[in-house]
Amino acid sequence: MSKTSAYQVALEQFDKAIEYIDINPDVTQILRQPNRELTVHFPIKMDDGSTKVFTGHRVQYNDACGPYKGGIRYHPGVNLDEVKALAMWMAIKCAVVGIPYGGAKGGITCNPKEMSQDELERLTRRFAIEISPIIGPKIDIPAPDVNTGQQTMAWFLDSIKRNSAVKSPAVITGKPLILGGSLGRTEATGRGVMLTALEALQNMGMEPQNATAVIQGYGNVGSVSAYLLEEQGVRVVGVSDSRGGIYRPEGLNARQVLNFKRESGSVVGYPDTERITNEELLELPCNILVPAALDGVIDADNAGRIKARVIVEGANGPTTPAADRILDAAGVLVIPDILANAGGVTVSYLEWVQNLQSYYWSEERVNAQLAEILIEAFAQVWAIAKENEVNMRIAAYIKAIDRIARATTMRGIQ
Ligand code: NAD
Repeated sequence: MSKTSAYQVALEQFDKAIEYIDINPDVTQILRQPNRELTVHFPIKMDDGSTKVFTGHRVQYNDACGPYKGGIRYHPGVNLDEVKALAMWMAIKCAVVGIPYGGAKGGITCNPKEMSQDELERLTRRFAIEISPIIGPKIDIPAPDVNTGQQTMAWFLDSIKRNSAVKSPAVITGKPLILGGSLGRTEATGRGVMLTALEALQNMGMEPQNATAVIQGYGNVGSVSAYLLEEQGVRVVGVSDSRGGIYRPEGLNARQVLNFKRESGSVVGYPDTERITNEELLELPCNILVPAALDGVIDADNAGRIKARVIVEGANGPTTPAADRILDAAGVLVIPDILANAGGVTVSYLEWVQNLQSYYWSEERVNAQLAEILIEAFAQVWAIAKENEVNMRIAAYIKAIDRIARATTMRGIQ
């Protein structure tokens, strides 16, 4: 059986959402394809003196609501179809939270784990130059994604500044603080998970002090979500990483677990906890479940055994469409990734705003702006869900595609 391509999945979600929207068929036709797909092949000198040709892509899905925006991924599995899907999802995520961006994505097919820092630097600098004709602070603003981080963004910025007329740090986000990064960026996605989880609890009439949470994945998103939820009074009873999970019904201390993981390499082995598998972790009794590791972990097999009343998707795509249907029928509230993990891109936007102003904000101000944007977006998606009697995922798509379609229609076709 052939596997459905990522772009096919994105189009299916798009088609489902437009059933609820009054959308001009001409605009539907436009939005079913990205505006631009750039593929580049470029040589890099490897450390051993050999030359290797790499392939990279930058896909610009739609810029009706503002400049293109989206990360750059380094992974052996990167291909044009996946980058197209990710570009569409970025446009949707930005439109869900109402920030003035379109959507884009980039990637290079490579295995960064087998490359030296010098090779990665040459790869990044050359890719930056190759895609520079379509990049710019008011045109298309890249950011980090899988296997790219602050250092990659710093090399990218430096190459653009040296090799083009663009001199503004606003050409890329996710930069180190010293190069114009924003305070609050590191915690932004986990903070968004905490904020949307709290909104969900409130709408369900549940106090954070009476709620329990389980978190899969203890990297950037999972660990920050855990300790910020704990600060709000939620009892975090189980967490996991790639080596397995730990469970303590009385509650953990999320920051101490993070320190333990930093020292020992895993959450597993943290004192006074029961060791469990990642499969068992997802099925623990709790109020809030935060999958914050991989895609596709909640599927048709385990969805029926999930005991949480709310799932807050920290990871991208952790719930399969078949699982969604089972969770819906069981009355489990799923806060979709395009809303729950949009804190990262929202603070990227705030970084860009600060760069354009050359005026930098306190962490408190960044966090307050983030909360304002996400809480408003949550309320709007909630209202759409109630009005159309659909789940939060379909509601978020309705909000986003309606916004993009209206902007595209207003701009007209020429
Ligand atoms: P990370 O690399 O910092 O952490 C990933 C964590 O998942 C690690 O603790 C790892 O041990 C764990 N993990 C790996 N395999 C696992 C398995 N089989 N079972 C359980 N845990 C496993 O990554 P991150 O930045 O925290 O991103 C996590 C997810 O959130 C990804 O889906 C990512 O695309 C998504 N996301 C991240 C951001 C961000 O700003 N970092 C923004 C939006 C979405």
